[in-house]
Amino acid sequence: MPVALATILGAAIGSFLNVVAYRLPRHESLIHPPSRCPGCDTAIRPYDNIPVLGWLLLRGHCRQCHAAISSRYPIVEASTAVRHTSTARVSRGSPAPKARSWYAPTAPSPGAATSSAM
Ligand SMILES: [Zn+2]
Repeated sequence: MPVALATILGAAIGSFLNVVAYRLPRHESLIHPPSRCPGCDTAIRPYDNIPVLGWLLLRGHCRQCHAAISSRYPIVEASTAVRHTSTARVSRGSPAPKARSWYAPTAPSPGAATSSAM
Protein backbone atom coordinates (compact mmCIF):
# COMPACT_ATOMS: atom_id res chain seq x y z
CA MET A 1 0.00 0.00 0.00
CA PRO A 2 1.38 3.41 -0.87
CA VAL A 3 2.48 5.38 2.19
CA ALA A 4 0.28 8.41 1.42
CA LEU A 5 -2.79 6.21 1.11
CA ALA A 6 -1.93 4.52 4.41
CA THR A 7 -1.67 7.94 6.08
CA ILE A 8 -5.06 9.09 4.79
CA LEU A 9 -6.64 5.76 5.68
CA GLY A 10 -5.09 5.91 9.16
CA ALA A 11 -6.47 9.42 9.76
CA ALA A 12 -9.92 8.29 8.63
CA ILE A 13 -9.76 5.28 10.94
CA GLY A 14 -8.68 7.57 13.77
CA SER A 15 -11.67 9.79 13.06
CA PHE A 16 -13.95 6.76 13.27
CA LEU A 17 -12.27 5.71 16.54
CA ASN A 18 -13.23 9.13 17.92
CA VAL A 19 -16.84 8.48 16.93
CA VAL A 20 -16.72 5.09 18.62
CA ALA A 21 -15.14 6.52 21.79
CA TYR A 22 -17.77 9.27 22.00
CA ARG A 23 -20.93 7.40 21.05
CA LEU A 24 -20.47 3.86 22.32
CA PRO A 25 -20.59 4.78 26.05
CA ARG A 26 -23.73 6.81 25.31
CA HIS A 27 -25.35 3.85 23.52
CA GLU A 28 -25.70 5.95 20.36
CA SER A 29 -25.57 4.71 16.79
CA LEU A 30 -22.14 4.79 15.19
CA ILE A 31 -23.62 5.67 11.81
CA HIS A 32 -26.58 7.98 12.30
CA PRO A 33 -26.94 10.91 12.82
CA PRO A 34 -23.91 12.49 11.19
CA SER A 35 -21.36 14.24 13.40
CA ARG A 36 -22.76 17.21 15.33
CA CYS A 37 -21.39 19.83 17.64
CA PRO A 38 -22.26 18.80 21.20
CA GLY A 39 -22.61 22.49 22.11
CA CYS A 40 -25.14 23.71 19.52
CA ASP A 41 -26.18 20.41 17.86
CA THR A 42 -25.33 21.80 14.41
CA ALA A 43 -24.28 19.20 11.85
CA ILE A 44 -20.58 19.42 11.13
CA ARG A 45 -19.97 20.22 7.47
CA PRO A 46 -17.99 17.68 5.50
CA TYR A 47 -15.08 20.04 4.91
CA ASP A 48 -14.93 20.79 8.64
CA ASN A 49 -14.87 17.07 9.36
CA ILE A 50 -11.60 16.33 7.56
CA PRO A 51 -9.35 14.55 10.08
CA VAL A 52 -6.77 16.83 11.74
CA LEU A 53 -7.11 19.59 9.09
CA GLY A 54 -10.70 20.44 10.07
CA TRP A 55 -9.72 20.93 13.70
CA LEU A 56 -6.66 23.01 12.75
CA LEU A 57 -8.59 25.24 10.32
CA LEU A 58 -11.30 25.85 12.94
CA ARG A 59 -8.61 26.36 15.58
CA GLY A 60 -10.34 23.88 17.83
CA HIS A 61 -13.71 25.64 17.91
CA CYS A 62 -17.16 25.04 16.42
CA ARG A 63 -17.84 27.12 13.33
CA GLN A 64 -21.35 28.04 14.58
CA CYS A 65 -21.24 28.48 18.35
CA HIS A 66 -17.45 28.72 18.83
CA ALA A 67 -17.53 26.08 21.56
CA ALA A 68 -14.17 24.48 22.16
CA ILE A 69 -13.54 21.12 20.47
CA SER A 70 -11.33 18.77 22.43
CA SER A 71 -7.78 18.34 21.20
CA ARG A 72 -8.31 14.62 21.73
CA TYR A 73 -9.89 14.43 18.25
CA PRO A 74 -6.86 15.52 16.17
CA ILE A 75 -4.48 13.70 18.52
CA VAL A 76 -6.25 10.36 17.97
CA GLU A 77 -6.52 11.01 14.22
CA ALA A 78 -2.86 12.03 13.86
CA SER A 79 -1.50 9.23 16.01
CA THR A 80 -3.50 6.63 14.09
CA ALA A 81 -2.24 8.14 10.82
CA VAL A 82 1.37 7.99 12.07
CA ARG A 83 1.00 4.36 13.08
CA HIS A 84 -0.44 3.44 9.69
CA THR A 85 2.29 5.40 7.91
CA SER A 86 5.07 3.67 9.83
CA THR A 87 3.52 0.28 9.21
CA ALA A 88 3.29 1.01 5.48
CA ARG A 89 6.93 2.17 5.40
CA VAL A 90 8.17 -0.94 7.18
CA SER A 91 6.15 -3.35 5.09
CA ARG A 92 6.83 -1.60 1.76
CA GLY A 93 8.70 -3.88 -0.56
CA SER A 94 8.71 -6.85 1.77
CA PRO A 95 6.75 -9.91 0.76
CA ALA A 96 3.52 -10.67 2.54
CA PRO A 97 4.11 -13.05 5.42
CA LYS A 98 3.10 -16.63 4.83
CA ALA A 99 0.03 -17.68 6.68
CA ARG A 100 0.76 -19.98 9.55
CA SER A 101 -1.66 -22.34 11.05
CA TRP A 102 -1.46 -23.39 14.68
CA TYR A 103 -3.73 -26.36 14.08
CA ALA A 104 -1.82 -27.86 11.14
CA PRO A 105 1.59 -28.95 12.36
CA THR A 106 4.34 -29.27 9.83
CA ALA A 107 5.19 -32.72 8.56
CA PRO A 108 8.05 -34.41 10.40
CA SER A 109 11.37 -34.17 8.67
CA PRO A 110 12.52 -37.35 6.91
CA GLY A 111 15.43 -37.78 9.28
CA ALA A 112 13.31 -37.63 12.41
CA ALA A 113 11.98 -41.18 12.12
CA THR A 114 15.38 -42.75 11.40
CA SER A 115 17.21 -40.96 14.22
CA SER A 116 15.12 -42.72 16.89
CA ALA A 117 15.71 -46.17 15.32
CA MET A 118 19.44 -45.94 15.85
ZN1 LIG B 1 -21.39 24.37 18.01
